[in-house]
Amino acid sequence: MMQNEILALIPRYLPMGIIIYDKEGKLKYLNAVALDMFGTTIEKVYNINLFDDPNIGHHDKAKLKQWQDISFETDYDFDRCRQFYDSEFVHTHKYFVTKITIMRDEHDQPQGYLLNCEDVTQKKAQQQQLLDSYKRVELMQRELALALDAGMLTSWDYQISTGKLSKFTGSPQGDEQWSFESIRDRVHPHDRNAFLGLLDLVAHGQHPSQSNLELRVRNINNEEYRHYNFVYNVREDENGNPAGITFIQRDITEDVIYRENLIRAKNRAEEADKLKSTFLASMSHEIRTPLNSIVGFSQLLSDANDADEKREYKRLIDINSEILLKLIGDILDLSKIEAGSIDILRKPLNLNHLTNELYQSFKQRLTSPNVTMRLVDPYAHCVAQMDMHRFIQVFTNFVTNAIKYTPQGEIVMGYECSPGRVRLYVRDTGIGIPDKKRERIFGRFEKLDDFAQGTGLGLSICKAIADVTGAEIGFSSQENVGSEFWFIVHTQVDYTLKSAPGDTDKDPVVVAPEAKMHKHQVKDLNILVAEDNDSNYLLLKTILKDNNLTRAINGAEAVEKAKTQTFDIIFMDMKMPVMNGLEATALIRQFTTTPIVALTANAFNADRDEALAAGCNHFMTKPVNVDELMELLSGL
Ligand code: ADP
Repeated sequence: MMQNEILALIPRYLPMGIIIYDKEGKLKYLNAVALDMFGTTIEKVYNINLFDDPNIGHHDKAKLKQWQDISFETDYDFDRCRQFYDSEFVHTHKYFVTKITIMRDEHDQPQGYLLNCEDVTQKKAQQQQLLDSYKRVELMQRELALALDAGMLTSWDYQISTGKLSKFTGSPQGDEQWSFESIRDRVHPHDRNAFLGLLDLVAHGQHPSQSNLELRVRNINNEEYRHYNFVYNVREDENGNPAGITFIQRDITEDVIYRENLIRAKNRAEEADKLKSTFLASMSHEIRTPLNSIVGFSQLLSDANDADEKREYKRLIDINSEILLKLIGDILDLSKIEAGSIDILRKPLNLNHLTNELYQSFKQRLTSPNVTMRLVDPYAHCVAQMDMHRFIQVFTNFVTNAIKYTPQGEIVMGYECSPGRVRLYVRDTGIGIPDKKRERIFGRFEKLDDFAQGTGLGLSICKAIADVTGAEIGFSSQENVGSEFWFIVHTQVDYTLKSAPGDTDKDPVVVAPEAKMHKHQVKDLNILVAEDNDSNYLLLKTILKDNNLTRAINGAEAVEKAKTQTFDIIFMDMKMPVMNGLEATALIRQFTTTPIVALTANAFNADRDEALAAGCNHFMTKPVNVDELMELLSGL
C-alpha cells in the first residue's frame, strides 16, 4: 500500500469522531466513529452546513466565521437536531466534547473545518455517580457527627503505620490529628498499661479478646481525670492485616460516681445492719447477765433462813438491778438521741458539792483492791450554768469505763474552771486504747473490748450530749499506760480556789461476798466452772455449795485445769477474755469426754448450734434455772 493510502486509513481507526467541513461550512467527510456517534450515514449528512448546527452557540459560530478555533462540551439532544440532519437516535442525550480546528493550506489560508468529537457520556455518568457518592458520604458524616454529639460520644481512629490518632469532627476541614504521645500522657498512669498493651497487641497483628476498655483520661484544659468507656474495633487493610483501631469514646464519669455512691451506700447499709445485729446480740447478752444474778439470787433468797445470808443475796440483787437499770437508761437515752429529743436544762449547778457526792458514790463501785480513786477539786466554791443530769451522765460514763479498764493503779476524777468554761476529766492508769481503735471510740454500738461488760453506748451517748450542747469531748490515751477522757462545757461559771488545793480520799472498795446455802441434794461432784464474771460465779458457787468447785476465769485457764484435774462436769461460759468458751471447749474435747455445759447469756439459736458443734453436751442460758441445773447434775 502507498504511504498516502495508509495515511488515509488513519481517520477510520482513530478512537474519536472526525468530521470535515469545507470552507463554506459544508460537511464533506465523517469517519466511522463519527457515524456511530451520531447514528447516521454519509448520505444523510453530506453537505449539511456547520453553521446550521443548533448545538453551536452564536458566539462560537461568529468565532468560526473569523477563522478561530473553538472547543465546547455539549449535552447533545438528538431530537433537537432532527431539522439539521437525520439520525437513528430518538429521545436520546449524549455528552460530547468537541473541538473545531481551522484547517489551513501552506499559505495559511483557511481551507475548511476539522471537527473532532469525543463521546464522554459514560465518563460523565461515572463522574456523576462519584459526585453523588461523595455527597452521600458528606451527609452521612454530618449525621454521624450529630449522632455522636447527641450521644456525647467521640470517635477516634488510630493508624498503626503513622502512629497517629485522629479525632472525628464531621467538619469539611477534616479530622483533628493528635500525636500518640500527647494522648498517652493524658491517660491516667494506672490505666496507661492497658491502653499501650492494646495498641501494641494490634500493632503486632493480633486481635484483642475484648472490645471494651475503661480508662481515666485527663482533660486537655485542666488536671481533672474523667472516666471514659472505649468501645473499639480493629480496622484491617486490603490484605486482612490490622491497619488501625477505631474507638468510640463515652464519658462515664457520672455513671462511675453513681456506681461508687451506690457501693458506698450498700456497704454503709450492710455495716449499719451488722452493727444493729451485733448490738442486739450484745444487748441480749448484757441484759441476761445481770438478770441471771437477779433471778438466781432471788430464788436463793426465798429459801434462805440466815439473816446475813439474806442480806448478802439482797445486796447482790441490788447491784445487778442497778446494772440492769443503767443499761435500760442507756438504751432509752440512745433512742431519745436518735429521735433528736434529749432535754437540756441549764441551771446553776454547785459543782463543788456535786462532784464530791459523785466521788463518794463512785468509790463504792471500785471492784479491785489494787485500784485507788481520788477527786481533784481545787475549788472552795464553784457554780456553773449546767444541766445536772447530763453532767452526772458524762462523769458516770467516764468513771465506769475507768473502773472497768483499770486493773491496777489509780483513777483520778476532777474538774477545772476558767472564765466561760468548765473542763471535767477522768484519768486512769488502765489498759489504754490501741491506736488503731481510736477513731471508733465514740462510735455508736462500738465495743472495742468484747468481753468487758458494757453496751458500747456510753461514750457515744456522751458524744451526742456534746454535739447537742455545743460542748467538746475528747481523750488522750496510751496503751498499757492509761487514758484521760475530758468534756469541756462552754458556760458561765463562778468559782474561787481553795487556799490549799488538794486531793481527797484514797479508799479502795472490794466486793467479795460469800454465800452459803442451798436445798438441792447434788453432792460432792468435782465441777469446773469457767466464768469471768464474779457475780455469776458466786451464784453457781452458792447453788452448788455441797460440791467441789474449781474456777477458771478464762478459756485458757479452763483448758489447763481440765488437763491437770479430773472433773465430773464442766460449766463453760461462752464469752470470756483471753480465750472464749467455744475455743476452750473444742480444745478440751481433744483429750476428754467430760460433759461440758455451755452456760451463756447468748440466747440465740445460732449460739446454741455453735456451742454444740464445738463439743458441748448441754446448753443452758442465763438466767440459770436452778431446778433445770439440779436435774442435769443429778442425772450424772
Ligand atoms: P461500753 O459501755 O461498752 O464501755 P463505751 O462507749 O463507754 O462502751 O466505751 C467504748 C469502748 O471504749 C469500750 O468498749 C472500751 O474498749 C473503750 N474505753 C472506754 N473508756 C476506756 C478507758 N478508760 N480505758 C480503756 N478503754 C476504754
